[in-house]
Amino acid sequence: MQTSLRNLFLQHVAQTSDIPPMLEIKKAEGVYITDIHDKKYLDLISGIAVSNTGHCHPKVVKAIQEQAETYMHVMVYGEFVQSPQVLFAEKLVSLLPKHLNSVYFVNSGNEANDGAVKLAKRVTGRSEVIYFENAYHGSGQGSLSLMGSEYFKQAYRPLVPGNKMIRYNHFDDLNKITCRTAAVIFETIQGESGATVPDQAYVKALRKKCEETGTLLIMDEIQCGFGRTGKLFAFEHFCISPDILTIAKGMGGGLPIGAFIASRELMSKLMQDPFLGHITTFGGNAVCCAAALANLNVLLDEKLIDSVSEKAELFKSLLKHPNIIKVNGIGLMMSIKIKASIHILDLVNKCYENGIITDWFLFADDCLRIAPPLIINIEQIEEACHKILYALDSFN
Ligand code: PMP
Repeated sequence: MQTSLRNLFLQHVAQTSDIPPMLEIKKAEGVYITDIHDKKYLDLISGIAVSNTGHCHPKVVKAIQEQAETYMHVMVYGEFVQSPQVLFAEKLVSLLPKHLNSVYFVNSGNEANDGAVKLAKRVTGRSEVIYFENAYHGSGQGSLSLMGSEYFKQAYRPLVPGNKMIRYNHFDDLNKITCRTAAVIFETIQGESGATVPDQAYVKALRKKCEETGTLLIMDEIQCGFGRTGKLFAFEHFCISPDILTIAKGMGGGLPIGAFIASRELMSKLMQDPFLGHITTFGGNAVCCAAALANLNVLLDEKLIDSVSEKAELFKSLLKHPNIIKVNGIGLMMSIKIKASIHILDLVNKCYENGIITDWFLFADDCLRIAPPLIINIEQIEEACHKILYALDSFN
């Protein structure tokens, strides 16, 4: 008897928990994912904020195919001139404040933050890094040291020493940023606490405090970047900018790529004492950069960001139910806060049954994640909300 793919998955693909949803995928296109039984699911989480332009956008697929036929990997990062990398970096910096003009490509969000923190330490000559309660910056040992939850860290200690946690959106705690602080690493919109939006005045005060103390402000836009909040980058909502910007997820149109971006002046520090201050084999891979450039062009040419706020408003107006306490977030980075009596995993499973893919948050176990591809249309939003409300009815 042939062993099923599901059994092989459990036997040979390392697992992260004992409750994987195990949807067996046949294909994904636009806002839909289809399983091997031809059941179509509306994807409301975009592979956790990745597929902003939808699954398998034809222009992204074409760019990948063309680049794969031309060259894929030729040399480690930063040694050869590869047009997809250069053209993507040029396009990206043309959309950013002038000082963010040098892009260091890596492969993931974790690596982007790791590189950013190293750069901040190298530039300032300081070692303390300040992070936030409920922050998530990745799962490597560096990023884990900056995770705002003891539960996830305790089994892996000792981690990187010298970091300090403060509360997100609390003015009082800004005093803990001092002339000893190399960097503050800040999610512009905090993802895993349930899409938490900080106050305008707080973000401005944080920026000011960093300036006063010579601390570099790293803004992690790995989840909230690339149009998700209704601006290309979420820091634009606050009329300030970071010293170092970190990006990944929605950047690659479905392929793995990340980056940390700073001024050429700051970035040049990685070239000396020691030289090769940060290196990566696959960072800036030609196929990933070609996909990322095509993805960025789709976001801009199809004006996908322009309608994000309107779509978010529609979600909010339709998501009314006795079991919903409120909807948080900004743009299409939302969380639905549910009555505490409902177990969030039961609701997620109910949504799956109804053909909706959604998820929970690491640090908000009473919230449902809503982060659909930005291409979602009015009818699809109506379909999604109708199905969520129907799922919620079963908990009355
Ligand atoms: N920062 C944020 C805000 C994230 O949401 C994530 C991923 N959930 C990361 C960093 C880490 O990204 P990756 O999984 O690509 O390492």
